[in-house]
Amino acid sequence: MTNNNFDVIIIGGSYSGLSAAMALGRSLRQVLVIDSGKPCNRQTPHSHNFLTQDGETPKNISIKARAQVEKYEAVKFYAGLATSGVKTLEGFEITTEFNDKFISKKLIFATGVKDIMPDIKGFSESWGISVIHCPYCHGYEVRHEKTGILGNGEYGFEFSKMINNWTKDLTLFTNGKSTLTEEQTGKLKAHNIKIVEEEIDSFEQTNGQVEYVIFKNRHKKPIQAIYARAPFVQHTDIPKTLGCELTEEGYISVDPFQRTTVQGIYACGDNTTFKRSVSNAVAMGTSAGAIANKEIIDEAF
Ligand SMILES: Cc1cc2nc3c(=O)[nH]c(=O)nc-3n(C[C@H](O)[C@H](O)[C@H](O)COP(=O)(O)OP(=O)(O)OC[C@H]3O[C@@H](n4cnc5c(N)ncnc54)[C@H](O)[C@@H]3O)c2cc1C
Repeated sequence: MTNNNFDVIIIGGSYSGLSAAMALGRSLRQVLVIDSGKPCNRQTPHSHNFLTQDGETPKNISIKARAQVEKYEAVKFYAGLATSGVKTLEGFEITTEFNDKFISKKLIFATGVKDIMPDIKGFSESWGISVIHCPYCHGYEVRHEKTGILGNGEYGFEFSKMINNWTKDLTLFTNGKSTLTEEQTGKLKAHNIKIVEEEIDSFEQTNGQVEYVIFKNRHKKPIQAIYARAPFVQHTDIPKTLGCELTEEGYISVDPFQRTTVQGIYACGDNTTFKRSVSNAVAMGTSAGAIANKEIIDEAF
């Protein structure tokens, strides 16, 4: 790559980053997309609930999106990890894992989040296949099946109430002593939702399809799908080192225009919100690209 000077650098080239790149490419901006190629949904066989792409593989959505963005010649791509960033007089300088350096007026973080897999054997192998995080993404495919929820307390109660919409064969696995209130326990029982307090050892699975929950006391329970939410961390601390504030939950703090708390830096997609979906990531990417472009126009005009 001969030119290392861009209007905008986008870190993260999945759905949100590509969407921002399209808005900027169409705005005649010189753009660099730096991407390490690890979207969070890469293990899931089919992506759902995004109009025109329902049931498509995550990879095919990316391939199609990338091909459309590549038509805008001012958008360049770099495969690798952005490892650090500093403010400069005119903007920002980003360094990659291969020690390449790029500068830009504006920065967009579309870096997603990294889900932390719990210490349950079989969980990570089944993540996105039969261990699922979201009923809107995958609930329809496992409707009416023998389903588990991994959770406890308020969160386990709310999740069970929700998933009861998709199946009546539901068990809440609290993985240790229940912390549900008496009222919550009563409500779950009234809806025939079973509560199992035994501690979990592992999920027995074949190619990501769970078959049994295995307990530490070696009992086992057959199951076809399990809902679980994994904790997350940001993929990169570059926004933080540049001064961007994070929310209490650990998301990059943005305003409704995807502006972070640092002038000239924007963030979009999963790194900013609990509302995880491809459609939402794409919508936020469009906004981030448009506002970055507008601010460049405002500063130059
Ligand atoms: C298992 C699973 C299944 C899902 N299923 C669905 C579904 O069916 N339907 C739906 O609508 N949504 C689904 N989602 C949610 C959806 O996948 C996300 O909302 C969406 O991928 C978010 O897009 P994003 O661009 O913000 O982040 P991601 O798609 O996670 O992409 C982030 C990109 O940034 C790159 N990156 C990160 N840090 C750096 C760095 N420092 N330098 C360079 N590159 C970097 C990563 O490699 C990655 O390519 C699912 C999520 C999961 C976890």
